[in-house]
Amino acid sequence: MTDGFFQPVSGSVLPRFAGIPTFMRLPHVPPDHPRRAEVEIGLFGIPWDGGTSNRPGARHGPRALRDASTMVRGQHGVTGARPFAAAACADLGDVGCNPVDMMATLEEIRSFVAGMAEEGIRPLAMAGDHLTTLPILRALGRDRPLGLVLLDSHTDLYPPYFATTFPTHGNPFRMAVEEGLIDPARSVMIGMRGTCYDDADRAFARDHGITVVPMHEVFARGVADVTAQARAIAGNGATYLSFDIDFVDPAFAPGTGTPEVGGPTSAMAMEMLRALKGLDIAGADLVEVSPPFDNGGITSWLGASVAFEILCLMTAGAGAG
Ligand code: MN
Ligand code: MN
Repeated sequence: MTDGFFQPVSGSVLPRFAGIPTFMRLPHVPPDHPRRAEVEIGLFGIPWDGGTSNRPGARHGPRALRDASTMVRGQHGVTGARPFAAAACADLGDVGCNPVDMMATLEEIRSFVAGMAEEGIRPLAMAGDHLTTLPILRALGRDRPLGLVLLDSHTDLYPPYFATTFPTHGNPFRMAVEEGLIDPARSVMIGMRGTCYDDADRAFARDHGITVVPMHEVFARGVADVTAQARAIAGNGATYLSFDIDFVDPAFAPGTGTPEVGGPTSAMAMEMLRALKGLDIAGADLVEVSPPFDNGGITSWLGASVAFEILCLMTAGAGAG
């Protein structure tokens, strides 16, 4: 990566509003590309929201995130981290999703990520609704269960809806536990709030030993205390980081399907991500950005900024290099 191929296109070479957008202006490197074998971290889109139970639109997330992420520059404003200098990052394109076939799409996503894993490319998924995390975990957690750090206003541990066996974006982590893809003892969920149907999700967490830190507890204890606990729970093993944009208060992230008031500001959310430095991140995602419900692109810009924070974690943690 010494020749600059894996560096984002600079805004002083091509204006940020010009050209064909890729994630963070990185090179587009599809499977048959001659530089494919050098890629270490792959950003890719999952334009699918077939697991959505309420307001849809996250299928449009990847395109909006590509556009917004043209604003991302190479150096972190607080830490000085330069993730594009630390690892060869590329935009791998989108998973081929079928908007009318849930099961085929879940398998497409699993197969896409399993292929990346075989190539030694760590995934940073730009989705898509939260059900897209399940097939990613099926690809990454098949041989050994992963630790999990979830930032979300919901646990996504709910039983199936509508008396069917079909999965939804409300139960990817329940299924991931049942399928042995994540280790409950190394899993922590942060930011939960809002009204509930009942205690079914919390009971599942309790019964399986998953740590849940509701948002009011984060406000009471502070970022440093909660993130130190999260790092201790995930430990030194391979861990998956999942960021549902509805973790952030809807005042800052209105463009999402299931908003819950009383969340962190965007500044607090970014601070929490930075405080997770040191995790061994096997893969990560940003989910539930729904551009049709966005105002002025603020949710997409927050999503692009969150993805950059995650990239900094991925290139700084034990899994880097
Ligand atoms: Mn979620
Ligand atoms: Mn959520």
